[in-house]
Amino acid sequence: MIKRIKELERISRLLEPTSAERKEVRKKVISYSEDFLKNIEKIKAYNVTPDKGIALLESPITETPISTDKAIELLQKNVDFPGLNPASGGHLAYIPGGGIYYSALGDYMADIFNRYAGVFYASPGAVRMENMLIKWMAEIVGFTSPPDPLSHGRGERGQGGVRGEVAGNLTSGGSLANLMGIVTARDAKNISSANITKSVIYLTKQVHHSVSKAIRIAGLKECVIRYVPMDAQSKMNVEELQKIVLLDKKNKLNPFLVIASAGTTDVGAVDPLEDIGKLAKKNDLWYHIDAAYGGFFVLTEEGKKKLKGIELADSLVIDPHKGLFLPYGLGVILVKNAEKLRESHFYQAQYLQDAIDGADEDSPADLSPELTKHFRGLRLWLPLKLMGLKPFRACLEEKLLLAKYFHNEVQKLGFETGEEPQLSVVTYRWIPSQPRPLSPGRGEEYTNAFNKKLMEAVIADGRIFISSTMIDNKFTLRFACLAFRTHLKQVDLLLKILREKVKELERK
Ligand SMILES: *Cc1c(COP(=O)(O)O)cnc(C)c1O
Repeated sequence: MIKRIKELERISRLLEPTSAERKEVRKKVISYSEDFLKNIEKIKAYNVTPDKGIALLESPITETPISTDKAIELLQKNVDFPGLNPASGGHLAYIPGGGIYYSALGDYMADIFNRYAGVFYASPGAVRMENMLIKWMAEIVGFTSPPDPLSHGRGERGQGGVRGEVAGNLTSGGSLANLMGIVTARDAKNISSANITKSVIYLTKQVHHSVSKAIRIAGLKECVIRYVPMDAQSKMNVEELQKIVLLDKKNKLNPFLVIASAGTTDVGAVDPLEDIGKLAKKNDLWYHIDAAYGGFFVLTEEGKKKLKGIELADSLVIDPHKGLFLPYGLGVILVKNAEKLRESHFYQAQYLQDAIDGADEDSPADLSPELTKHFRGLRLWLPLKLMGLKPFRACLEEKLLLAKYFHNEVQKLGFETGEEPQLSVVTYRWIPSQPRPLSPGRGEEYTNAFNKKLMEAVIADGRIFISSTMIDNKFTLRFACLAFRTHLKQVDLLLKILREKVKELERK
C-alpha cells in the first residue's frame, strides 16, 4: 500500500508546477493577454465566423497534457476570436461589459490564496472585505448614511461594522441578485400556498426577463401578475399603479410586491422611483428595484438626480460587472432590513458547528443560497483601492454625455430617435425612402427590414457592435454605452459607419 501511495504521490505532485514551470506558463499567458490589451483598439468588437469555435471539440479532455502554446492557440482561435468581444470599446450593444485590469489581478490572488469567503470563522478578513463593500454600496445608493469619520470605520455604524441593519450579498450577477430579492420579498410578506393565487405583483413590460424568470423560480408564477401601463418614455405610470392596487385591495386580493427598474435594459428607462416608493410604503408593498444596469450612475451628479428615490427600495439589485466595468461575474443584492435576507437564506448544519461562535460579522453563507463561493470581493476591492473612485465617476459621467452626444449627432444624420436618453441608452431608426408603389402596411415592414439590414451591415463590419429591440412593433436600433473603453472616438466611428451603410443600402 505504501508503495502505491508513493506512486500516486509522484503523479499527483504534477498538480503543483515548479516555480520555473509556473514562470514559463505565466510568461506565455501574460504575453498573450498583453498582446490583446495592447491591440484592443484595433481588435474588432464582433467577429462573424462560420465555424463558431467548433474546433475546440477536436481537442477532447484526455489523460495527458498539451503544451501551453497549444492551449493558448485553441483559446485564441475558438474562444477569444469568434463572436462578441465585450472588452472592446466598440461594444455598444445589449448592456456592455468591461473587464478592468486590476479585477483580473484580484481574481488571480483570490484564486492563489483561495480564501474561504463564505464563512467568517474561516476567513474573517475576506468576509469583512465583502461586507465592507456591501455597506459601501448600501451607502452610495442611500440605504444608510455615510460612516461617522470619528468611528474610524469600526463599530455599529461604520463600514465593516458588526451585524449591520442593511445586508447584501455579492452574487454571480444581476439575475441571481433579482432571484434573492424576490425570494426575500416572498418570505417577508408570507406568501405561501395558502395565499399565492390571491397575491399580486406589479411591474411593467419593460422589466428585465431575469425578473420574470426569478418570479417563476421563486415559485410565484401563480401570483396575479399586473403589468402596469407605461408613459411615452416607457416609465411606469404611477397613477395607473395606484388605481390598480386600490382595485385589487377592494377585490380582496393581496398586493405584496412592486418591482421597478432603474434603467431598463431595453431603452434605459428609469421608473419614477420616488413616487413608486411612496406608494409602496402607503400600501405596505415590498419595493424591489432592479438597478443592475443603471444603479452605479448614482456616482455622478446627474445620475443621482435621475435615480432619486432609489433609497426607498426594500431590496435593490446593482451590477458591478456592468456599472463598475468589472469582468463578468459580479452582481449585488442589497436588502434594507438585514433580518429579512437572513430569514430567507440562513442554514444550520451540524458539521459546521465550530463556525457559529465568535462571529463578529454576518457570513455570506447565512445570507445567500451559496455555501462555498468564489471570493468575489477582491475583484471589486482591488481596483477601487488601486485607482480610487474618481476615474469610475468620470467614466460614468462620460457615458451619460456620450449618449446625449450620440442622440444629437444621429438625429443630424437624419435618423429618427426616441426622446433624450435618460441614462446611456439611445434608441434610433432610419426611415428609408420607400419603393413605389406603396401598398398599405408595406411602409412599416419595409422600414423594419431596412433597419435590420442596417444592423447586420454594422455587425458584419465588426468594428462596432450594436443590437436592436422592438418598440411598438418597430424594429429599433439601440446604442448602449457602458463599456469603459468607449470614448468619443468609438462613438464617432459608429456614426461614420451608420452614415456609410445607410448610403449603401439606400442605393440598392
Ligand atoms: C443585465 C441586467 C440584468 C441581469 O443581470 P446579469 O448580471 O446579466 O445576470 C437584470 N436587470 C437588468 C436591468 C439588467 O440590465
